[in-house]
Parts: sequence; C-alpha cells; structure tokens
Amino acid sequence: MSSNKNSRLRFNFGFMLEAGSGTSRIIELDYPSIQLEEDVTLSPLKGTFQAIRNSKGIYITGELFSNISAECARCLEPLMLDIAIQMDDLFYYPPQTAPQGEFSVGEDGFLDLAPLVRQLSLLEFPMQPFCRSDCKGLCINCGQNLNEAECDCEVDEIDPRFNVLRSLLDSMP
Ligand SMILES: [Zn+2]
Ligand SMILES: [Zn+2]
Repeated sequence: MSSNKNSRLRFNFGFMLEAGSGTSRIIELDYPSIQLEEDVTLSPLKGTFQAIRNSKGIYITGELFSNISAECARCLEPLMLDIAIQMDDLFYYPPQTAPQGEFSVGEDGFLDLAPLVRQLSLLEFPMQPFCRSDCKGLCINCGQNLNEAECDCEVDEIDPRFNVLRSLLDSMP
C-alpha cells in the first residue's frame, strides 16, 4: 500500500532494518488530534506500540486509544465514543515482498501507520451508536426527544399497523 509523505504517523525505522532480527523499539504516541485521511480525524490519539524487526519486515503490536464523535441512532444527540485500536500487523520489507493488500515499509525505511490506524478505527465505528442503552429516542410523530420529556401523541396514531388493526376491528360485526 502506498505511503503518504505528509503523514504524521510516519516513522523512520531505517536503523532497525539495518540492525537485523530481534531489534525492537517501544514508541509512545500522544496527539491531541490527528487527521488520518479526509474521512477520519482522531482526537486524541494516544497509546504505546512496539516495533519489532523480524525476518519478514517490521512487526507492529500495541494498543491505541481515541474518541470518535457520532450521533445517537435513536435520538440524534451528539456523543463521544471511546475506541481502542488493537494493532498486530506485519509491515513487509523490502516492500516488493509484501503480498497484495498487505502493508510494507518503504524503500526509504519509513513506515506509515496511518492507513492501518484508519482501517482499524473505521472497524471500531459502531453501526448504531446509542447515547445510553435505554435511550427512548424521538417521537416519530412530533419529534420530541423522549429522554427529555414526554409528548402528548397517542401511541395508536403513530404506528400505521395499529390503524390497519383498528379498521379491521371496526369492520367486524
Ligand atoms: Zn439517544
Ligand atoms: Zn410525540
């Protein structure tokens, strides 16, 4: 995969490539905010990972933490979610040895974590985040946030299935 020269998650591991198998480094990240691509900004991005030189390249292992902003699927209120990004990935070196779709260390010895972190953070993004597990959502009739207040809507006027049922009952002799 290609590496973006402007990435703030690019690390020079040239010395480790020279040093040979078994060499390792612990690296700590602490960014108040970091944009990975146009679609992913992580604020903050913190954590520690270990880079280990092995015979195939550089193995990255560690856990990063961030928050992502989202909106509640039920009541649409903005919310922040804590996410943990677990990295356990080999970056092949030399780059030509990387199988299709795998990460690699650049010819210049730079390793860009941004594509991996972006991919993993997108996986952490829940399909349906809720502000709380018992969120009551919005009234589908008047839009009232039911966590904040009740509304006066009649339940049986909201759901069209009830109307069908009622007309059936009405038509009975
Ligand atoms: Zn909610
Ligand atoms: Zn209502």
